[in-house]
Amino acid sequence: MTHNSGTLFIVSTPIGNLADISQRAIDTLKQADIIAAEDTRRTGQLLSHFGINTKQIALHDHNEEKKVPHIIDSICNGQTIALVSDAGTPLINDPGFNLVRAALEANLIVVPVPGPCSPIVALSVSGLPTDRFIYEGFLPAKQGARIKHLDSLTKEPRTLLFLESSHRIVASLKDMQVTFGEQRVAVVARELTKTFETIKKAPLTELIAWIETDPNQTKGEFVIVVDGFDKAVSDKSEVEAENIIKTLLEEGIGVKQTSTIAAKLTGKKKKEMYNLALELIE
Ligand code: SAM
Repeated sequence: MTHNSGTLFIVSTPIGNLADISQRAIDTLKQADIIAAEDTRRTGQLLSHFGINTKQIALHDHNEEKKVPHIIDSICNGQTIALVSDAGTPLINDPGFNLVRAALEANLIVVPVPGPCSPIVALSVSGLPTDRFIYEGFLPAKQGARIKHLDSLTKEPRTLLFLESSHRIVASLKDMQVTFGEQRVAVVARELTKTFETIKKAPLTELIAWIETDPNQTKGEFVIVVDGFDKAVSDKSEVEAENIIKTLLEEGIGVKQTSTIAAKLTGKKKKEMYNLALELIE
């Protein structure tokens, strides 16, 4: 860095409602020499709405590596660059990581201009614990990989945040139901800040039933917020499951049917109930 270097601004933009842009974001975008945008056409619409004429260049996942050295050079030569993504906070499942890292390595000044970020917006209205949470971004597209990943999170005590698209919302909720259990509470936050904003909180089974009865609920953009694993609840339901299984076995009901009924009543996995029944019968 020289004392004549410019600055890299990381500018958050609205996730739907244009009125959510900050005055500081507008000023920064107006005053920048260049706006590096994920999609110049999309950002063009935002800029024309606010009467901003700053020159744009494209910076997306496919050209970031090639473009970063040029952008760093221009900042070193005194230019001010504002990075934006299509919506929300850049770098959060959006391009910009390589640029920010390179700018810091070159001792350049990187300044945040904060604003909307869909996972945080969803968390803030979820009514689930906000003191500790983990951000998981998008789940894998293939079901096998998705279930494997969800399996690794079943005992995670912090609130979990996922992004999801309209064509996988139901499949992902169903896989969460299988891995986290039917009674785990989750929140589907759809079309945040937009006309059809919907925020629904319920146990996973109820959420799936609700979404499947209204096809409109599968449209748009989604964040899923899931309650973390609660050991106390899990221990209590373990005792309840044992009692149910014992009663059914005492009534002379077979292991298979017992595990089916116990899984229905407790929301636990059938295989887990089957193994527990086998243990209890011994
Ligand atoms: N960087 C962005 C942010 O800060 O919100 C996230 C970018 S990621 C490529 C796009 C995903 O974010 C969407 O598929 C959806 O899961 C989520 N998302 C973005 N806008 C949303 C909105 N208005 N309502 C719900 N989810 C949204």
